[in-house]
This record gives sequence, structure tokens and C-alpha cells, in this order.
Amino acid sequence: MHIFEKLRKIRAELPRTVSLIAVSKTHPPKAVMEAYHAGQRIFGENRPQELCAKHSELPKDIQWHMIGTLQTNKVKTIAPFVAAIHSVDSEKLLETVHKEALKNERVIDVLMEIRIAEEDSKHGWSEDGLRTYLSAGKFRDMNGIRIIGVMGMATFTRDREKIRDEFATLARIFGELKSEFFAGDPSFKEISMGMSDDYGIAVEQGSTMVRIGSSIFGAR
Ligand SMILES: *Cc1c(COP(=O)(O)O)cnc(C)c1O
Repeated sequence: MHIFEKLRKIRAELPRTVSLIAVSKTHPPKAVMEAYHAGQRIFGENRPQELCAKHSELPKDIQWHMIGTLQTNKVKTIAPFVAAIHSVDSEKLLETVHKEALKNERVIDVLMEIRIAEEDSKHGWSEDGLRTYLSAGKFRDMNGIRIIGVMGMATFTRDREKIRDEFATLARIFGELKSEFFAGDPSFKEISMGMSDDYGIAVEQGSTMVRIGSSIFGAR
């Protein structure tokens, strides 16, 4: 199947309320353009260097989402154009994004990555750690960033029940944070969860953004 056929098939399966982030990491600009010509405008990358290279080469109406681990010293390279950062996992990173956004006279949409998987390899805030941070209220004065939601990755496992539980946990945390810290803030509305192997479960559990790579572009 061609990229455009795979995209069409996935889009047909997704509720209209769910955004599709096409994860193009490691795939060449030509593959991005094939998806672009099929109408896709939101793409996700996990390395700043690749993100910058593709941004400079490809059409300017593409919205580039940073979805991978981000070092603070790389934020300045993507701050001029990045549409959203899904992987904000610390106070230091959030403050850096805020400062670099202000330098570029922008407001950058960010999602707080929460660790829901059992693997140590996965990044993210702990539920308590994020609550403590938000309680301090500092984020409210940071006008370079807009916190639009949460992101999480499930454990890499065949156990569908486990994945379902982890996504349900993320959705619960989102709901609690919304009422505790973002009541009356309509921009806090996104739950970024679901990849090629588990987006069906994620959508069933309330995902609003799925990040799909290999099911669109093929194996990496
Ligand atoms: C690579 C990646 C994806 C997409 O993974 P696929 O299994 O190829 O769909 C989603 N989210 C993050 C954070 C990734 O790094």
C-alpha cells in the first residue's frame, strides 16, 4: 500500500475529534511530501536536528510537533517554528521553552509528558511530581508557553489489558489536572496517546492526539 492509502485508512478509523500526528522520523522528505499531498499537515519528529532540516526544506504550512526527548540546549533550534512540544518532562525544560519562545515572540503549545509505563526507560513526570509543580502556580506567569494537555507512552508489551490500564490512568490524570489546575481554561484539552500498535486502545480511552509512524511510513 502507498503512504496515501495507509493514511486514508487510518483517518477513516479515527473519530473526527482525534488529531493525527504523522510521525516521519527517519523517513526522507519525499515520504513526508507523499503524506502532504494526501492532505496531512501535522508531522511529528523526535530529534531536533532532523526536525530543523525537514522544516527548512518542506512547505511552510506544515505544523511540526516535537515528540521525543528534548535537551534544554536544543530548544533554541526549534523554538522559532515548532508548533507543539509533546515531551516536556521537567520544570527546567518548561522554563527553557518559555524563555526561547519569548525570544522569538511566540507562544509555544506544550504537553506535559507523564510516565505511565512501568519501564524505567520512559521519560516523564510522575503524577505527584507534576501535581506539586502545578500547585506552586509558577506556570501561570509563563506567557511563552501554553499548556494544552498531557502525553504518555504505554509499556512496550503484548498485554492489551496493561496498555488499556495505562491509557486509562493517563486519561484519569488529565481529568483531575483539568479540574484542579485548568478549570475554565479551554486550551487544556489534549491527551496525546497512541502509536501504531496501540492507537485503537488509546482512542477508546479518550485520546485526542495519536502519534503514528510505522503504520503510515513503513518500518524504520
Ligand atoms: C516513534 C514515536 C512514535 C510513533 O511510533 P510508531 O510505532 O512508529 O507509530 C510515537 N511517539 C513517540 C514519542 C515516538 O518516538
